[in-house]
Amino acid sequence: MIPFEKVLSKAEEYRPKISRFLRDMIALPSESCGEKEVICRIKAEMEACGYDRVEIDPMGNVLGFIGTGKHLVALDAHIDTVGIGDRSLWQYDPYEGYEDDEIIVGRGASDQEGGMASMVYGGKIIKDLGLPGDFTLMVVGSVQEEDCDGLCWQYIINEGGYRPEFVVLTEPTSCNIYRGHRGRMEIRVSAKGLSCHGSAPERGDNAIYKMAPILQELRALHENLHYDPFLGKGSLTVSEIFFSSPSRCAVADGCSISVDRRLTHGETWEKALQEIRNLPAVKAAGAEVSMYTYDRPSWTGLVYPTECFFPTWVLEEDHAACRTLVEGYRELFRSEPLVDKWTFSTNGVSIMGRFGIPCVGFGPGHEDQAHAPNERTWKDELVKAAALYAVVPSIYTEKHAR
Ligand SMILES: [Zn+2]
Repeated sequence: MIPFEKVLSKAEEYRPKISRFLRDMIALPSESCGEKEVICRIKAEMEACGYDRVEIDPMGNVLGFIGTGKHLVALDAHIDTVGIGDRSLWQYDPYEGYEDDEIIVGRGASDQEGGMASMVYGGKIIKDLGLPGDFTLMVVGSVQEEDCDGLCWQYIINEGGYRPEFVVLTEPTSCNIYRGHRGRMEIRVSAKGLSCHGSAPERGDNAIYKMAPILQELRALHENLHYDPFLGKGSLTVSEIFFSSPSRCAVADGCSISVDRRLTHGETWEKALQEIRNLPAVKAAGAEVSMYTYDRPSWTGLVYPTECFFPTWVLEEDHAACRTLVEGYRELFRSEPLVDKWTFSTNGVSIMGRFGIPCVGFGPGHEDQAHAPNERTWKDELVKAAALYAVVPSIYTEKHAR
């Protein structure tokens, strides 16, 4: 039997500690590739909470373990944040933050150091109450998600050799249960021309002019992309433009653009590239269409290159992982959860999108706070999330695992 009432009162008891831990993380700036200090802070908290084993892997992710049972279940929070943007838009110092009885403000509060704080105390509740089940719980604080979602888990799965039976993503869901989101790609389109003196443009071939009809056709392509009833429409937008030219008094010999492409259910990266290659203006210009790659070193200096392709994923609503969360929610909170999807992207793109390991989401904080000034989270949600995380491994192993 899982003592749901005791789990709830333990989570409530830890409200001040969860809040303190979150504020400590917020106070340590941790943009992608610079997460060292916050990783060390999380390791210390896991150790203080009595985790059985805590390690930092060569990429710089922190992994805390509880139990040594047969069924490996993981909780994931990326602990890098984006920058602060325009400081004048913040009413509070983004790292000093602010706190009252209801909210905590600061960069990373919702996206998503709040999820990390709740996870660590979910694990402590399991230890305190000796919650039952033949499981090993792996609590992951992952790096570089804001820069290249899912890369951390490519490393954890391929190089660390861990393959959980499912992963709970703790990105903000307003304490709803999310089971998928659109995928994405970063695409580059490059046109070449021939430079010459700007006083006699007829001698050259202007690459910027070649890009003009390509831009128009991309805008039209966006309107006609595939629609999926659960995830919605695929989309694209042109996000950057670059040129090369010998001088301001010359015909440009190169022009490139970046395309942010969102993939809905049923769209593949091959199809997304081919659609652009098939555009008449792309063919006429002989433009090259390719995918970007990512190879920034992690905070430990590790380079782990990957294509900038982040596959779509959707978990079926009746999957054991989703049912585990739904059942835990009903038992703890005596109400029916909303089961929905994220608008943004998460580490699920590699865990489920590339490797087929089931993912399901539940997190404190709100999606609309992510990357916004005066980012905040709610203490009630931090407490709720800690309680739900604590019961996930027991419900799964007692009722669903085989
Ligand atoms: Zn996030």
